[in-house]
Amino acid sequence: MFLRMQAFERPTDLAEALRLLARPGYRPLGGGTAAVGPVDAETAGLVDLSGLGLQYSRMEHDGLVLGAMMTLGDLLGLPELLLIGGGVLGKAVERTGPPTLLNRATMGGSLVGGAPDLATALLALGAQVTLARLDAAGQVVCEMSDLERYEAEPATLIESVRIPVKPVLTGYERVARTPRDLPAVAVVAAMEQDGQFVQNVRIAAYGLAPAPIRLKAAEEELEDAAPIEAVIQRAAEAAAAMVTPPADLRGSSEYRRHLARVLTRRAVEAAAGRMGRM
Ligand SMILES: Cc1cc2nc3c(=O)[nH]c(=O)nc-3n(C[C@H](O)[C@H](O)[C@H](O)COP(=O)(O)OP(=O)(O)OC[C@H]3O[C@@H](n4cnc5c(N)ncnc54)[C@H](O)[C@@H]3O)c2cc1C
Repeated sequence: MFLRMQAFERPTDLAEALRLLARPGYRPLGGGTAAVGPVDAETAGLVDLSGLGLQYSRMEHDGLVLGAMMTLGDLLGLPELLLIGGGVLGKAVERTGPPTLLNRATMGGSLVGGAPDLATALLALGAQVTLARLDAAGQVVCEMSDLERYEAEPATLIESVRIPVKPVLTGYERVARTPRDLPAVAVVAAMEQDGQFVQNVRIAAYGLAPAPIRLKAAEEELEDAAPIEAVIQRAAEAAAAMVTPPADLRGSSEYRRHLARVLTRRAVEAAAGRMGRM
């Protein structure tokens, strides 16, 4: 519920949208699902992004590019989704909510409005975000891990997301109080196979810090190694040792550290179990 809102704009051009967003208290509007519920006493104007032509997807030579206004429901319908990490992105999107939510929620809004399984999968897959900005720097391309730094800046909006399309082994594990709840912890592991070894290992986790993080200590244990049981166990221990998880109603800090260990092991085992099957 908006207590202070005075204007609703629907620009048809990106530069105009950014000029509007430079006004104090103006915020972008994607699917609008995050506006349901909490009282908002700060938003003075909403800038609806639906007229900017950002509802697209296109396959480029090295990646799938998704416009910020593409809905998660449309994303689930893309055949290209199966090419990405053995379908891990589709599984993460399905965890983001029921079809009614997915048919409204957009890529851009979900990255800002909190869709943790999706953000964790994108971080593990090495997705990059293109931001449009009004300042002299103009367009900026950033890693998922840097997104938070830009989000808070005025006159900035997510224009698109690029997801690399390459053969990658993945594992995705989560623990939640119920199947539909946000996860206490979710871990997505992604790696490339080189014979008996794995490389370019990326392991991302939600629930171990305020935002999704890479479990770099675990990645280092696996990089250029054969993912045998002892190596995977060392990676799982390294994941648990590197985090100081927050505590809330979904789990204590100690429980989450335990989940970091268990879910890292399971996610890496699942990815390694696909070696030779791609
Ligand atoms: C009933 C309900 C149940 C939910 N259940 C789950 C769940 O089980 N799991 C889960 O992960 N999530 C859940 N969510 C959260 C949901 O995933 C988000 O609300 C949704 O993804 C936000 O997408 P949106 O397009 O509607 O964003 P909006 O509501 O339009 O915007 C969200 C935020 O992003 C900003 N924004 C929007 N577009 C852009 C852009 N292009 N660039 C920069 N900033 C932008 C807005 O200003 C706002 O701050 C739930 C939400 C609701 C309402």
